[in-house]
Amino acid sequence: MLNIVIFGAPGSGKGTQSTKISEKYALEHISTGDMLRAEIKANTEFGKKANSYISKGYLIPDEVMIDKLDDLMKKKNGVKGFIFDGFPRTIAQGKALDEMLEKYDEKVTVVLSLEVEEDELVDRILKRGEISGRSDDNRETVEARLNVYHNQTEPLKNYYSEQFKLVRIPGQGTIDEVFESISTVLDRIIG
Ligand code: ATP
Ligand code: MG
Repeated sequence: MLNIVIFGAPGSGKGTQSTKISEKYALEHISTGDMLRAEIKANTEFGKKANSYISKGYLIPDEVMIDKLDDLMKKKNGVKGFIFDGFPRTIAQGKALDEMLEKYDEKVTVVLSLEVEEDELVDRILKRGEISGRSDDNRETVEARLNVYHNQTEPLKNYYSEQFKLVRIPGQGTIDEVFESISTVLDRIIG
C-alpha cells in the first residue's frame, strides 16, 4: 500500500492537494476536517461537541479522534492506500496511526509537508472564510489555530524526519505547481 500523510499548517492546502492525489493515484482520502464538518452540518451530538473546540481553534481531544480514525479505516477494505489529511495532529495521534497501520501490516510510506509562510496562510484562511461558512475561518480563531499548530502539531515534523519520511513541498505556487512537485515525489516512490 501507499500510505501518505499530508501535513501542513491550517490553510496550507492539504484538502485541495489530497483530492488531486486521491484521484491520480487511486488512494482513499481520509479527511478528519471534512468528517467533523459533516457531523456539524448534520447537527449530531458529536458535531455540536466538536464545534465547541473547532470554533475556538482548538483540537478535538486525542482519544476521541483516534477512535474516529479507527472507525473510518475499518470501513475501507482492499484499498490501494490512504491519504491522511488532518491526522495526525499530535505526537499521540502519530503513534496511534502507526499502531493502527501495524494491525494491517502496513506503515506510513511518506509524509508530504506543505511549506507556506504565515502571512500567506492568514490571507488564504480569511479569504476562504468569506465563502466557506466555517466557524474557524475568521480573524479571531486563526491566531489560535496557528498557535495550536506550532505547539502541538509541528513537533510531528521531527517525529517523521527522524524516520526519514518527511518530504518538504513548496506550498506557495499555484495549485497545479504544488501538485506537480507532489507528483514528482510520489512517482519516484512508486518507481
Ligand atoms: P487545510 O490545510 O486543508 O486548509 P485546516 O487546518 O484548515 O486544513 P482541517 O484539517 O479541516 O483544517 O481541520 C479543522 C479543525 O478540525 C481543526 O482546527 C481542529 O479543530 C479539528 N480537527 C481536524 N482534525 C483533527 C485531529 N486530527 N485532531 C484534533 N482535531 C482535529
Ligand atoms: Mg482541510
